[in-house]
Amino acid sequence: MTVSADTIAAIATPAGSGGVGIIRISGTEATTIAQAISGLGDLKPRFAHFAHFKNTHQQTIDSGLLLYFAAPASFTGEDVIELQGHGGHVVMHMLLNEVLALGARMARPGEFSERAFHNDKIDLVQAEAIADVISSGSEQAVLAAQRSLQGAFSAHINELLGLLIETRVWVESAIDFPEEEIDFLSDQHLRDQLSQLNEAMRDTLRKTQSGVVLSQGISIAIVGKPNAGKSSLLNCLTEEDTAIISEVAGTTRDVVKEDVVIAGIPVRLIDTAGIHETDNPIEQQGIDRALKMKESADLVLHVMDGSQAITETLKQEANTLHIINKCDVLHPANQSLNGIIRVSAKTQTGIEELRQAITDHTRLGVLNETTFTARTRHVEQLKLTQHHIDQAEQQLAHNQGELSAEELRLAQHALNEITGDFSSDDLLGEIFSSFCIGK
Ligand code: GDP
Repeated sequence: MTVSADTIAAIATPAGSGGVGIIRISGTEATTIAQAISGLGDLKPRFAHFAHFKNTHQQTIDSGLLLYFAAPASFTGEDVIELQGHGGHVVMHMLLNEVLALGARMARPGEFSERAFHNDKIDLVQAEAIADVISSGSEQAVLAAQRSLQGAFSAHINELLGLLIETRVWVESAIDFPEEEIDFLSDQHLRDQLSQLNEAMRDTLRKTQSGVVLSQGISIAIVGKPNAGKSSLLNCLTEEDTAIISEVAGTTRDVVKEDVVIAGIPVRLIDTAGIHETDNPIEQQGIDRALKMKESADLVLHVMDGSQAITETLKQEANTLHIINKCDVLHPANQSLNGIIRVSAKTQTGIEELRQAITDHTRLGVLNETTFTARTRHVEQLKLTQHHIDQAEQQLAHNQGELSAEELRLAQHALNEITGDFSSDDLLGEIFSSFCIGK
C-alpha cells in the first residue's frame, strides 16, 4: 500500500515563535528515527510519550511529547511520528536536522496529504478541502470546507458515478446483444435513467458553483466620482468584527483593497480612485487601475453624490448596483429617481439594505448549511461531464449505441478526475504543490 519507500519529515507548525512546535515524520523509518532521537524502546501507538530529544552527541535539544500513529491507522496511511517540542525557529530546525541526519528527507509542500491520497485515506476533493480549511477567509468557509473534508462533496460525485455506471451498463449490454439493441436503446428505463442523471448533474453543478464562491470569495469594486462618498461607504461596509486584512496600496489616489466578510463570504472590496477627466499623470494611473478593477470585479457598486442633482443616465447592468449616497442631504431633484438604493454613509441609513442587495446580486444568497467548498477545476470537470452526457443522449436519439457508449465512457472519465481516480501526475503536482509544507 505504501507508495514511497523513503521517509519524509517537516516542521508542521508555522515559522516564528510559539508555545509548541511540531515535527511530523511519515514512512517506514519513522519509528526507528523516533527511537534514536528519544531513546525510547517500544513505542505505543496513540499514546503521548514524554521524551528528551537528543542529538548524536547525546546532548538534549528539547523535551516534549512523542506521538506514534501506526500504519495504516494514520493520516498518511504510513507510520507517522509527531515530535512536539518548543515552538522556536532554531530549536525546531535543530530537531528537524537531526531527523534528516537519521535518514528522513525533507517533505515537499502537501506531500503528507499526497501520501494520504495515494494510500486511499482521502480522495482528491478531500485533499483539496484540507487546503481550503487552512486558507478559509470566513467562518462559513471553514464549516463548508469541513463538509467537503468529511466527504459531502465526494458523496455527490459518487452518486453521479453510480447513476452513470448504471446507464453505461445498460447501453453496453445493448451493444453486446445486437439483435435486441434497438429495443434496449429506445427503452423507457434508459430514458428515465438519463433524465435522473441529468437532474443530479444540474443539482451538483449548482452546489459546486456556490462552493467555489465560498472558498474563493468574490470581489466588489466601488466606483464613482470624487467626493461621492466611496471611502465613507467602504468604511461602513467593513465595520464588522470579522474584517480580516487591510491592504493600502500607495496614496489615497490609488486603489484601496479591504477583505471583509458579508453574509459569511469573504469579499474583497476595492475602493477605486474617482473616475474622472484629469491632466495629472499620477492621478490618471490611479484612474486606469480603477477602470481595470471595475472590469474584473464580480460586482460593481456605483456610488453617486445625492446632495447634487443627478443628471447622468444610468445603464442597467447585471453586475452593477447604482447607489445614491448622502440621502441625509438629498437634493430635491433626486426624489423622483426610482429603483436605486439610497444610503447615507454619514448616518448609516440604508446600509443593511445595501448588504442585502449585495447578497441578492451575487451567489452569496444561495449558500446554506449544506454548502461545501469547491474549486473552479471541479466546475469545469462537471461541465465536461455534462457535455458528454448530452452527446450520449443525442447519439441515443439516433440509435447510435456504440457512439453513445463512448460518450458515456468519456463522461465517467471526466467525473473520475474530480475525486482523483484517473488524475494525471501533472494535475496532482499542481494541486499538492499549493499546500503548506508539513501538511
Ligand atoms: P470619495 O472621494 O468618493 O471616497 O468620498 P469620501 O468618502 O471621501 O467623502 C467625500 C465627502 O463627503 C466627505 O467630506 C464625507 O464626509 C462626505 N460624505 C460621505 N458620505 C456622506 C453622507 O452620507 N452624507 C453626508 N452629508 N456627507 C457624506
